[in-house]
Amino acid sequence: MTTESMKALKIWQALPAETKRAVLGNVWCSECRTSVTICDYSAHLNGNAVVLQGFCAVCGHKVARVVEGCVPSVKKVRPVSAGLYIFDVWLWGDAKCTMKNRIIRKIQIPGAKSLYQFAEVITQAFDFDLDHCFGFYERRERHFFAGKAFEFFVDIGEEPTVSGAKGVKRTKVKQAFKSSGEKMIFFFDYGDSWQFEVELKEIKLAGKQSLKSIVLEKIGKAPLQYPPCEDDVEEE
Ligand SMILES: [Zn+2]
Repeated sequence: MTTESMKALKIWQALPAETKRAVLGNVWCSECRTSVTICDYSAHLNGNAVVLQGFCAVCGHKVARVVEGCVPSVKKVRPVSAGLYIFDVWLWGDAKCTMKNRIIRKIQIPGAKSLYQFAEVITQAFDFDLDHCFGFYERRERHFFAGKAFEFFVDIGEEPTVSGAKGVKRTKVKQAFKSSGEKMIFFFDYGDSWQFEVELKEIKLAGKQSLKSIVLEKIGKAPLQYPPCEDDVEEE
């Protein structure tokens, strides 16, 4: 027996007994011109299907039956990195934003989503509109950002503020965040300068049903993105 037919036989044998019985008793015989039971069969692989080759239990003529959809596709196995990424997102940039008065959104997002989609989820979680440019940055040094940087400017063909910055649409969450404990700054709106600290808390294996972005928990009340009585302060 070849390795291929060993494999085919294994796959066939792993099918539920009920399925096997139904297949074995329902094989077309060209000689009998009806469905018959196959006997003395062997299993073979043909692409994504197992093919049973044997003989008609009634007349002994050669018969075959293709059993489709039972070969597990190796390519479709989801890699571990396609898990769910759990983040704590802190809103900073306000003097009142202390530990006591914190504004946090616990967010779950599939690692395969882009940083652009992540930005959408974050801003929604704080009831903001994603109506300004933004970026994800490894760290801030005085008045400029440094380290890894991902900026929306790159996606729209504009000059990035950090040289070597990558786009947010072409970068996945799992490419920007590798392990729990990693932090980045989500900087939103270069005019109003909303600053969020984004910390990866955990990477969970995703079940089939749960590949969704969800706000898991809301701590603290988000400020209004556009306060009604904002003073017109000229910068510089
Ligand atoms: Zn027959």
